[in-house]
Amino acid sequence: MQDQKNKTAGELLAEKLLEDPKNAALRMSDEEITSADDFCEGYKRFLNKAKTEREACKEAVRLAKEAGFDEYDPEKVYSAGDKFYKVNRQKAVILTVMGVKPLTDGIRLAAAHIDSPRLDLKQHPLYEDGELALFKTHYYGGIKKYQWTTVPMSLHGVVVRADGSKAEINIGEDEGDPVFCVTDLLIHLAGEQMKRTLANGIKGEELNLLIGSRPFKDDKVSKKVKLNIMDILNKKYGITEHDFVSAELEAVPAFKACDIGFDRSMVGSYGQDDRVCAYTALMAILGCDKPAYTCMTVLTDKEETGSDGNTGLNSSYLRYFIHELSRAQGVCGNAVISASKCLSADVNAAVDPTFPEVTESRNASKINYGVVVTKFTGSRGKSGTSDASAEFVGEVRRMMDDGGVIWQTGELGKVDAGGGGTVAMYIANLDMDVIDVGVPVLSMHAPFEITSKLDTYMAFKAFSVFFDDK
Ligand code: MN
Ligand code: MN
Repeated sequence: MQDQKNKTAGELLAEKLLEDPKNAALRMSDEEITSADDFCEGYKRFLNKAKTEREACKEAVRLAKEAGFDEYDPEKVYSAGDKFYKVNRQKAVILTVMGVKPLTDGIRLAAAHIDSPRLDLKQHPLYEDGELALFKTHYYGGIKKYQWTTVPMSLHGVVVRADGSKAEINIGEDEGDPVFCVTDLLIHLAGEQMKRTLANGIKGEELNLLIGSRPFKDDKVSKKVKLNIMDILNKKYGITEHDFVSAELEAVPAFKACDIGFDRSMVGSYGQDDRVCAYTALMAILGCDKPAYTCMTVLTDKEETGSDGNTGLNSSYLRYFIHELSRAQGVCGNAVISASKCLSADVNAAVDPTFPEVTESRNASKINYGVVVTKFTGSRGKSGTSDASAEFVGEVRRMMDDGGVIWQTGELGKVDAGGGGTVAMYIANLDMDVIDVGVPVLSMHAPFEITSKLDTYMAFKAFSVFFDDK
């Protein structure tokens, strides 16, 4: 360490006036780094248990109950310190801790999404071809289709039978479970395929999931492999082929979350966009005790398809809930919403040194540089975004610095390189101050995404500091 008095005038001036970002690992104490690593053990367990929006919702409720949250009761008038949750159609959940101040002072809201890119089954999925049984799929969210072949896949979701009863399916996750797979052409015979563009390397209708190969022994029937699969499904789940019409089945990568690197500094897993923010925002609300402002974490669905639909944040479910809560307190819901502030908790693209050409290094988020604050998203000329005001960014910045949060700013890629959106604009459209705050991710939307443990911990700290606002 250089002595302060031996520094030149220029060095001292540069220290005072210029930014000098440093890797979080160089700024955190060994104790805090250990806390971050420990925190991510819980995160990995969450990732393994919550691979779909339904499972994430269920697991969030289980953890909330453990932390003393009760199911929301519309008849009840809540008071400071009360903790409760409201589930929307098993796919989204709002968790609330009532604050000391009146609701009209506004809510502190963190909004993350619990849906991730995947392969949904079509409504007539099951077929036999070449004496193999397969499922037709329809991909959900933005994916590079070629990445989803030759990956072990598990199957999650529900099937509603003709009588209205429901079968819950989760197969491919437990030790010893079978898994499924989308096949790809061997290189030896891929001459024509290799001439396709990367976008068309695998086409949507080629994402067919292999699920069986053994025929049912009966010469009187055709499609013996298909019949044998349906027999197995009927015995196990009590369903018939027609029941797929009223099913939501999602194929997701079967592998487990794990540490990445010799130094175990990163987490690799399916579905980190956006469960890394969902988990950190969840942990922050669960740790919230009699806050000054009423605090809320919403874990929402349908972000990956544009937030439309009754479980997405472009619907009215959050607004209705705040109105209901306000009415019980005898205050105007609109006034509460207008006074509220939100951290839209979603991931950003981390700089990948293998593909530096898509990011502008001065304005891109980096692994291990802390939680990333994204003032605006969208594409082209800031199209399709809410752009947080300088005043609100200033407020968030002060809060993070005072709370010891290591943070950075970042834009999603170079100008005109592409772009993307989050739920921020739908929340802004309610007349709320909102800004994106989340974790940088490598290989976003791939079957296996990578985050840094330190950044994840800093996201948790950012949401906690936000809820702790006095
Ligand atoms: Mn996201
Ligand atoms: Mn996404």
